[in-house]
Amino acid sequence: MKDDLSPRLPSVAVSGGPLSAVKTPVLVVGLFEGTGDLAPEVAALDKAVDGKIRAVLGSGDFTGKPDETSLLYVGAAGGPERICLVGLGKKKGFSSDRLKAAAAAAARHLKGLGIHTIALAHDLAAGSGIPGPTAAREVFVGAALGAYSFSSLKKADDKKRTVDRIVICGDPSALADGPRHGRIIADSVYLARDLANTPANLMTPTILAARAVDVAEKCGLSIEVLDRRKIQRLGMGAFLGVARGSAEPPALIVIKYLPPGHKKSPVALVGKGITFDSGGISLKPVENMGAMKTDMSGGAAVLSAVAAAARMKLPIGIIAVIPATENMPGPGATKPGDVLVAMDKTTIEVITTDAEGRLVLADGIAYAKRFEPALILDIATLTGSAVIALGKRVAALFASGDDLLERIRQASRASGEQVWPMPLFDHYFEQTKGEVADLRNATGRDGGSITAAAFLKRFAGDTIPWAHLDIAGTARSNKDYGWVTKGATGWGVMTLVEFLQGCDPPKG
Ligand code: MN
Ligand code: ZN
Repeated sequence: MKDDLSPRLPSVAVSGGPLSAVKTPVLVVGLFEGTGDLAPEVAALDKAVDGKIRAVLGSGDFTGKPDETSLLYVGAAGGPERICLVGLGKKKGFSSDRLKAAAAAAARHLKGLGIHTIALAHDLAAGSGIPGPTAAREVFVGAALGAYSFSSLKKADDKKRTVDRIVICGDPSALADGPRHGRIIADSVYLARDLANTPANLMTPTILAARAVDVAEKCGLSIEVLDRRKIQRLGMGAFLGVARGSAEPPALIVIKYLPPGHKKSPVALVGKGITFDSGGISLKPVENMGAMKTDMSGGAAVLSAVAAAARMKLPIGIIAVIPATENMPGPGATKPGDVLVAMDKTTIEVITTDAEGRLVLADGIAYAKRFEPALILDIATLTGSAVIALGKRVAALFASGDDLLERIRQASRASGEQVWPMPLFDHYFEQTKGEVADLRNATGRDGGSITAAAFLKRFAGDTIPWAHLDIAGTARSNKDYGWVTKGATGWGVMTLVEFLQGCDPPKG
């Protein structure tokens, strides 16, 4: 489609009728672990292929464990050439998130075999009771994300193993908007992954802003890109203090989605957009510094989520703010000990130039407040401490109140992107106080993700509900699992979309 945000997103088609009559190179169905009985749809399919499914189960070659796959060559006339069984795990506690992970496991396996078109039963024929539209959406998203790869910088030969067409099998009227919404969401996650996977020399603040303009045009969003002069005029000294050390100009990307008829205050999303974080004068160690090209993952998630919200025509207003810059140790760079004056006039003592995320977010949050939002949600690859605390598969969640915290947890449960709540006791705020300035941007290793959050909360203030997701661990992965692929994960897009869907009307 010409309006796709990612050039590699598979197309979607819906196919009704019995599974045995779907003409496809491969049909994916799921089976639960430890149960011999087949769902009626699968039993009918098994009959049509001379009991080959039961034969595999009987042999013990396939047990239904999560991510397990088995390929059967059935060559049914007028039906699927192959059946791919995928394990759904135990039936107890099955969820739409596990459905998505199973679809991803199957798609990853089939992509590895060089199969370009895959058909999947809309709920993997699990008979799980997950409503048709949700099941179809999750299965498409899972299959598309499992098949994702970032290959645009490679020679054509390396691009051959792609899944370019996904067929969802089920009664089209029962699936409603599911397949279409699935495609919108997957496209947004692809976009976030593409942006973050792109090397920093090809994803400068200027290029990121140009991509945002392109996305805004495709999705009918209004966008403004503020250059250094305008950022200066706004008095964003914290943001500019980070940008000083780079030859690449910064950009403040502001996107507005204000659908006709929306009345309530908008939801403000703020995403960290550091297109490369060298650490600045407080230079990072050599090892893995290249991964810092993904330090704009929060900004990518925010852009992708607002794009999805617009395409799904959600009935709420959204303001997305992405302060984008490199953090480099160039000649003009901010030095440890320097004091910066933020947009809201707070003075900040720079203890380490590697704690730059909270500096750009401080001004990003202050800017978002101009729109009198119902709430502010920021998302950022902010601290190594969040990774130490929770590992690489769970994001740290902070919020100014229990209601907002619980709403984000709910969105996370629906998306399968795991979060865990962190504390914000008063004494953490004490620690952010500066020696020669109002605040300092680093407080030592102890509770580092929490003091970073406390720093941000000072800029959000006490009247607007505020939440913060630290995705330093989850934004990139060094292996494939579930619907996550190695490299940039696009983490947060699905949770933000779930959250925004539940924001009608927005409340604190
Ligand atoms: Mn840093
Ligand atoms: Zn950073």
